[in-house]
Amino acid sequence: MKRAFFKFLKLIASLMLLITTVVVVAILWPLPELSVPNNHDQILIESVNIVDVKNGKILYDHDILIENNKIKSISETWNLNNSVDLRINGQGKYVIPGLWDMHTHSNQQSPWLHHPLYIANGVTGIRDMSGQLNVKDSYWVGSIERLMWNAELNANKRVMPRYVLQSSYQIDGVSSVPDGFPEFFKIENPNQVDSLLQFYKNEHVDFIKVYQQIPVASYRKLAYRAEYYNLHLAGHKPMFLSLEEAIDLGQRSFEHGRIFLFESFPEADSLKNPKNWKRYFSKHKRKLVDEHDPKVTRALMQSMQSKNAHWVPTLQTLKFEALAHDKTFLSNPNLKYITRIRKKLWWNMDAKNNAKKNNAEDTKGVSQDFYNMAMQHIEIANNLGVPIMAGTDVTDSYTFAGFSIHDELEDLTKSGLTNLEALQSATIIPAEFVQNENLYGSIEIGKVADLVLLEANPLERISHSRKIHGVLMNGLYYDSERIESLKYFSESSASSFHMNIKVLFSLISSPLVRVQFAD
Ligand SMILES: [Zn+2]
Repeated sequence: MKRAFFKFLKLIASLMLLITTVVVVAILWPLPELSVPNNHDQILIESVNIVDVKNGKILYDHDILIENNKIKSISETWNLNNSVDLRINGQGKYVIPGLWDMHTHSNQQSPWLHHPLYIANGVTGIRDMSGQLNVKDSYWVGSIERLMWNAELNANKRVMPRYVLQSSYQIDGVSSVPDGFPEFFKIENPNQVDSLLQFYKNEHVDFIKVYQQIPVASYRKLAYRAEYYNLHLAGHKPMFLSLEEAIDLGQRSFEHGRIFLFESFPEADSLKNPKNWKRYFSKHKRKLVDEHDPKVTRALMQSMQSKNAHWVPTLQTLKFEALAHDKTFLSNPNLKYITRIRKKLWWNMDAKNNAKKNNAEDTKGVSQDFYNMAMQHIEIANNLGVPIMAGTDVTDSYTFAGFSIHDELEDLTKSGLTNLEALQSATIIPAEFVQNENLYGSIEIGKVADLVLLEANPLERISHSRKIHGVLMNGLYYDSERIESLKYFSESSASSFHMNIKVLFSLISSPLVRVQFAD
């Protein structure tokens, strides 16, 4: 009996040793490098149709000469005797500026799982909306890493979109800061605000990502002091003060499709109570729709317009919640680009929870109503001149790096934007938002040649933005063959055992992820 027991113990011990060894090997297993195509100093795109995203006109059959990644000339005919390093036949194709996704979340695995897919989908710029505290995180990336990546992109050592602005960690009061980190990150007290701003200034951050539960007095101080550090505020509308006040205080961008719903019903103040806003929200979601007052929404939009505050509705997240019970929606072919770990531990659970709500008697249809309302709000906001930017909220459930921007553009046109306006929401408007319209956002002489060649005219049908023939980025040309290999690189990375173990390990080792999931 005793011997059998020891034998059993020995078996368990060897099994555990084996599992540990496999996990350690998987974590240490080197990841493949993505090869960067050859750089060309001079590139000529011949007889292509150029889409002017500023006015919706098309310049047919023109040549674009690119030198050192900048547009050198745009002309009807190029002297054929002149030699260039690379000629691209643009006949019958349409060229648009590279698309920018203005709301994403990258992580330590993004160079394998996300960057190639952005480029393959014509996304050449992203505004990443997450960051770190004062310690390098195992999962999230911060400004220092993103700026290093940007430098490597400029040196043609990386395949990736540009990270166009640098975000702080999501500042959310006490709940989002794990034990052991400096107290000032919690900004419980307004006199901690300067330490926070100074810290992120030193980290070369451009904006403070504000989240829901910032104490009101601290938010006000943040808004007053940010400019001194040359920083701005962007993110959620903080729950405990009015949208009107946040607009007045100068927050530059507001994220997500529900912001007006939160404000425009008789009991809106119940959502501004730090003690029970969450309970109120989960119990009375339907009230927000049923008792919605469009007059209040319109007034808020007018304030946004007059303050040039931008709105990033991220419709894909509301769409997911609305359709989480729908088998067809859930069987997205792009799931092959997602690691099993993310699907199993995060997305499937998220889908189940939302499906349950969508099927329950008392909450049936509410998420669908939220989605529909957000689309109606986009139409009104657009008519009132609120600048709208396309964003996807990758890596939230059922959002796909690169692919989802095209869904968002299509949904924006279903919400009343013209095809041109949808294109503008991902090109010239973001370029102006980051105050870099001299270099980005349209196809003009002197601007950076981050360009997407399409098989068909996106002004005729916005879904033509998906028909990508080639992508030009930083002097590198990705033809259709290369684009396929970028997709395959991410697909095979996502399905590999060692990547899944790496993702799991980076998630469970991150104190930031732990508090975010606990909240
Ligand atoms: Zn987000």
